[in-house]
Amino acid sequence: MRCPFCGSEDTQVKDSRPAEDNTSIRRRRICPDCGGRFTTFERVQLRELMVVKKTGRKSSSTATSWCGPSRSRCGNVLSTTSA
Ligand SMILES: [Zn+2]
Repeated sequence: MRCPFCGSEDTQVKDSRPAEDNTSIRRRRICPDCGGRFTTFERVQLRELMVVKKTGRKSSSTATSWCGPSRSRCGNVLSTTSA
């Protein structure tokens, strides 16, 4: 991860833990060159999210919205597990 302050590519992760909603990872980083500290977020990117964008919906990445555009697929999964 490039340092946003000095552009150095040799930044180090100081801390890594899940964000409040447990759908992303928050990493605290520090740049050894300039001493700058910054935080990055790592988030799951599923193919379904791209489908959501195509339909023009701006729903957030909740579990319910993942099942929205492809509800038939989610239904298949449920019926398979219950059978
Ligand atoms: Zn730096």
